[in-house]
Amino acid sequence: MLSRRRFLRIAGGILAASTVKYPSFATDRTLSGTITELRRGVGTYVDRGGTIGWMLRDGALVVVDTQYPQTADATMSAFESHAEKSSTPLIDLLINTHHHGDHTGGNAKLLDRSDRSVAHAGCVRLQRATAEDGATPATAAMTFDEAWSTDLADETISLNHDGPAHTGGDATIFFEEANIVHTGDLVFNRVVPFIDVDGGALVENWIKTLETLHDRYDDDTLFIFGHGHPDHGITGSRAGLLQMRDYLSAVDEFVRAKRADGVTLEDMKKETDLPGFEEYSSEEWPLPLAQNLEAVYREQTGDTPATTS
Ligand SMILES: [Zn+2]
Repeated sequence: MLSRRRFLRIAGGILAASTVKYPSFATDRTLSGTITELRRGVGTYVDRGGTIGWMLRDGALVVVDTQYPQTADATMSAFESHAEKSSTPLIDLLINTHHHGDHTGGNAKLLDRSDRSVAHAGCVRLQRATAEDGATPATAAMTFDEAWSTDLADETISLNHDGPAHTGGDATIFFEEANIVHTGDLVFNRVVPFIDVDGGALVENWIKTLETLHDRYDDDTLFIFGHGHPDHGITGSRAGLLQMRDYLSAVDEFVRAKRADGVTLEDMKKETDLPGFEEYSSEEWPLPLAQNLEAVYREQTGDTPATTS
């Protein structure tokens, strides 16, 4: 379970991600990450930003997402001490779930220590499109469009892209033998999610994708979520996929009903809680329901970028 202080730090990361720019923190405190093994050498690493997934088995190290530039050194130190590798490359395979800065910000440092790296083609395109003026983002060397797979240390690691959802470049990562899936930000575990319309998000397909993932895996599958409520954590079963689907469906239906009643977007955005999902909104969580209502309103009314994938 996340402490309140850690929750606030992670929450701060989300807010920064929503601006698409890397954050600048006022303090330069020493960071201490938390490494947790789930099973068969696959687990989570939490510091700030989106949850990092990892596999460490038979000397092979796979890392999923990289959080921030400010946390990259601590991340590398954490894995160095666990991997007991003294020579480069430290990481055999680096994967990005999507382009947001709280998941790719540490790429520059970690890519330097990686043998191979992969992300969805949309992730790389969006990293370039949202980079600050003149900046060259550190992107994965390999890309895929629908599916990608590799075998490493008696593990089959499969990446899938099921169409635009949280962004136009999402990947889910399946560790087949461990039966663990990293969902990236397809699941915000019971907190208000970021819906990145300008980054290609499509809630209608996000809902379908969560159902597809639910059917693709089984009751024994463990899921690593991009973010989570401190009372519910960043891991769970496939029931968490349907919980997220139910939230997105409720937002979609709420906006549809308000529009049918002639309520303006501005008046809609005054709502602070979604009926039945009050727990998702919190003064400690920087993303307000209004962000979701506006995103879904834009999707329903066709006010979205011409190219979303
Ligand atoms: Zn994200």
